[in-house]
Amino acid sequence: MWDVAIVGSGPTGIFAAYELVTRSDKLKIAILERGRDLEKRMCPMALGGGCRKCKPCHMVSGYGGAGAFSDGKLNLSPDVGGRLLEYVGRKKLAELIRYVDSIYVRFGAPEELYGTDVDKIERLKREALRENLRLLTFPVRHMGEKSKEVLANLKKYLEENGVEFYFETDVSDIIVEGREVKGVISSEGEKFSSKYVVLAPGRSGASWLRKAAKRLGIEVYNDTVDIGIRVEVPAEIMEPYTSILYEPKFIYYTRSFDDKVRTFCVCPYGEVITEVHNGIVTVNGQSRADNTTENTNFAVLVSTRFTEPFRDPISYALDIAKLANNIAGNKPIIQRLGDLLRGRRSTHERIERSIVTRTLEDVTPGDLSYVLPYRYLRNIIEMLEQLNKVIPGVYSDHTLLYGVEIKLYSSSLKLKSTLETEVRNLYAGGDGAGVSRGLVQASVSGVIIARSILRREGLY
Ligand SMILES: Cc1cc2nc3c(=O)[nH]c(=O)nc-3n(C[C@H](O)[C@H](O)[C@H](O)COP(=O)(O)OP(=O)(O)OC[C@H]3O[C@@H](n4cnc5c(N)ncnc54)[C@H](O)[C@@H]3O)c2cc1C
Repeated sequence: MWDVAIVGSGPTGIFAAYELVTRSDKLKIAILERGRDLEKRMCPMALGGGCRKCKPCHMVSGYGGAGAFSDGKLNLSPDVGGRLLEYVGRKKLAELIRYVDSIYVRFGAPEELYGTDVDKIERLKREALRENLRLLTFPVRHMGEKSKEVLANLKKYLEENGVEFYFETDVSDIIVEGREVKGVISSEGEKFSSKYVVLAPGRSGASWLRKAAKRLGIEVYNDTVDIGIRVEVPAEIMEPYTSILYEPKFIYYTRSFDDKVRTFCVCPYGEVITEVHNGIVTVNGQSRADNTTENTNFAVLVSTRFTEPFRDPISYALDIAKLANNIAGNKPIIQRLGDLLRGRRSTHERIERSIVTRTLEDVTPGDLSYVLPYRYLRNIIEMLEQLNKVIPGVYSDHTLLYGVEIKLYSSSLKLKSTLETEVRNLYAGGDGAGVSRGLVQASVSGVIIARSILRREGLY
C-alpha cells in the first residue's frame, strides 16, 4: 500500500516526488515508469541507426521523461510553456517558477542566464514589431551538458529519501471506487494500491490519459491543435537572436487565415531528431552540448481551434503525421523551401545540393504539400516570409523543411486549481494533462500537486 503512486518520471513526476519528500518523511511514494532508467535509455538513432520504433520510444520515455536528452532550456516566464496561469494566477506562478528554478540550480544547473540584456532585447523586440511579429522575451537558463547530471542528482536525492522507482512498468488502468482513487494497475496486471495517484504521463502518454479519463467520466475538452514543420538553417543566420535570447519565440497572425503561427523550440547549433507517437514518426529538435552542429533548427507551428462537432484534435494531428509516414516510407519528409515554392518534390540529389547540410540522416526527400492541408502550408510559408524580414536568410531556397511536427497537448482534462481531477485524490499534471508545454511548467505542476496532497494530509 502506497501513499502516493506517481505515473511517469518526467519533470512533473520528479518534482511532485521532490516536494513530497522534502516537506515530509511520512509518505510512502512509488514512481511507475514505462520506460527505462536514464543510463539504460538508448535510442538506436543516437548510435547511428535508423528509427526502430522501440516500444516505448527511448527518446521520450524513461527516467527524466521527454526532454532528458535535450540540452534543457529552462524558460523562466509564466507566459510560455503552459497554461498554469489559468490555474494559479501570475503572482503565484512566478513564485513557483523561481522555486523550481532554484531547485534545478541546487541540483547542478548553471548559474548563468540568457535573455537579461535589456537594451539589446528591446532593440530586437522593436525590429520584430515593425514587421508585425511579436517577440516574446524572458530569461532562459540553459542546462546544456548539465541536464543529465541534474536528473541523476535529483534521482539520488529521491532514492535517499525513500522514493521507490519501478521502471518498465506501464500503467494501464486506474482503480477508482465511489469516485475516489484507490491505485493503479500495470499492463502486466500488477496492482499498486495507493491513497493518492498522480498522473504525469507526458505527451507520449496523452492518448492513454485521455482514454483513461473518459472511462472515469472525467471531462476532457479540446484545446488548440499544433501542427507544423521543423526548419533548419545555418546557425549564423539565427546568431543575432540566439546569442542574446537563446530561444527567440516569435508569434505572427497570418494574412490569409489570421491564424496564430509561432516559432517553437529553437535549437541553436542543434540537430533535427525524430520522435515516435503511437508508432508514428514525427520530427523534433535538440541542441546537444556534447555534439554541436553548424545549423540551428526550430519548429514553425500553426495553432488552430476546431469547431463543433469535432472533438478529437489528437487524432487529427496523428492522422496528418500518419499520412506523411505513409508517403515517405515511415520516415520524416525533407524538402528544400525552394522546391516547395516551385511545386516540386525534393530529391536526394537536390537535398545534397543544398548549402544547408541536413542533420537528420534517416529522411525521405519528398513534397510536404501532399501532406499538409492548404491552411497549414499557407500559414507556414507566410510565417517564413515574415521571419525573413528580421532574420534575413530564413526564406532561402536552401532552407530545409522537415515534416511533420505535431504537439499532442491538445486535450485538457478538467482540473481544479490544485490539479486534482473530478475523482478524489486523483491528480494530473504536466504535458499529458494539457497544463504544461515545457520543463518549467511541468515541474511547477508537480509541485502544485504535491502541496495539495501535503495539505490534505495536514503536512503543509
Ligand atoms: C527532444 C525534446 C527536447 C525538449 N527540449 C526542451 C527544452 O529544452 N526545454 C523545455 O522547456 N522543454 C523541452 N522539451 C519538452 C519537455 O521535455 C516536456 O515539456 C516535459 O518533459 C514534460 O514533462 P512531463 O513530466 O509532463 O512529461 P514527460 O517528460 O513526457 O514524462 C512522462 C513520462 O511518463 C511515462 N509514461 C507515459 N505513460 C505512461 C504509463 N501509462 N505508465 C507509466 N509511465 C508512463 C513516459 O514514459 C515518460 O517518461 C523537449 C521535449 C523533447 C521531446
